Amino acid sequence: MMKLTVLGSTGSIGTQTLEVAEHSDNITIEALGAGRNIKLLEEQIRKFRPHIACVADESLAAELKIKVADTDTKVLSGEEGMEAIAADTASDIVIAAIVGIAGLKPALAAAKAGKRLALANKETLVAAGDLVRSVIKESGAELIPVDSEHSAIFQCLEAVRKDRRKAELKRILLTASGGPFAGKTREELADITPEKALKHPNWDMGAKITIDSATLMNKGLEVLEAAQLFDVTADKIDVLVHRQSIVHSMIELTDGAVLAQMGVPDMKLPIQYALTYPDRLPMTDNTLDLAAAGTLTFEKPDMETFRCLALAYEAAKVGHTMPCVLNGANEAAVSLFLHKQLGFLDIAETLERVMQAHRVVENPSLEEILAADRWAREQVLALTQ
Ligand code: NDP
Repeated sequence: MMKLTVLGSTGSIGTQTLEVAEHSDNITIEALGAGRNIKLLEEQIRKFRPHIACVADESLAAELKIKVADTDTKVLSGEEGMEAIAADTASDIVIAAIVGIAGLKPALAAAKAGKRLALANKETLVAAGDLVRSVIKESGAELIPVDSEHSAIFQCLEAVRKDRRKAELKRILLTASGGPFAGKTREELADITPEKALKHPNWDMGAKITIDSATLMNKGLEVLEAAQLFDVTADKIDVLVHRQSIVHSMIELTDGAVLAQMGVPDMKLPIQYALTYPDRLPMTDNTLDLAAAGTLTFEKPDMETFRCLALAYEAAKVGHTMPCVLNGANEAAVSLFLHKQLGFLDIAETLERVMQAHRVVENPSLEEILAADRWAREQVLALTQ
């Protein structure tokens, strides 16, 4: 039996992880962590009977404690509680699916505790990739990507001998659906509302990542994430717009061979693979019918219109605290956009101004990373007031 902790259990990835666990005979739920949705968390506690649950919001945790007093689940709260369940000695695997920088400390706690860390929270590697990698090296933890593109690259790399990967990997071809506005001009994007941006053509995801997909910042964050995961520089990562979301990403090897991982767009596949790796378990309802899928297309992204992707490449070139600043500023800008306090095109413009104002801190500690993140958010608020 494999014991699983789900951080962000009430979100899109969290609920899909629990669906995967429900259909598996050898996964039990050790702990659940969520932000504010105690109604759903209570349902999950009753269904999966975890030993511990944690709610980020302290006052809601007190409410949940009363609601689940008749169960054996212990309720913790706050950031410390989330780190405690991430490091809980009883669990074998921690799936990190909290959205945003809030997921960093719990993911680090799981890495320090030497767990298998199934990472959906890309912001962790973008903001603190070097730190996370050094912690993993020391603790012997295992990092398995959940993001569908990174899972695809991870799966393709399995075909290359581990000690030859550095020498034989020429390029990573990261595919992007292009989001709901692919092909649009800047003029057409000027009056985009949150309602329009929240309608993704291929994937059903949380609000923040859906907006990131519409601006192409999600792809930018994925470039930064892939650079950390696969230890390559961003200039070896090319983005290709592939609207059908069938090819989840590819690798090109030094002899010109290109390997791709394909499948229907369903996050349950990369989630399950991260939990069961190196084994594969059967999954129903996800057979890929290539004849029905028809033509598969690939185009270069329009980085002039979708500036966020270009900004991510710039942040990768600078490194150190710059990716963290880009990420923090983006979280703040997306939140303002969702509250209709910032226009769609203003997101990239604001990020660019914050990046220009940032004084880079080299080889940052966790405290310096968190300070850079706070600074970036404050800058966004100052620029948009
Ligand atoms: P959702 O918005 O659907 O869910 C976010 C989860 O994080 C919820 O459980 C939420 O709790 C929890 N949460 C929010 N703030 C806090 C906090 N301060 N402390 C603890 N928990 C918190 O997001 P997604 O599931 O879509 O995405 C999660 C992560 O996975 C993101 O980093 C995203 O980039 C990544 N990802 C998502 C994909 C997808 O298909 N959805 C694909 C690839 C990567 P509550 O709702 O209870 O407040």
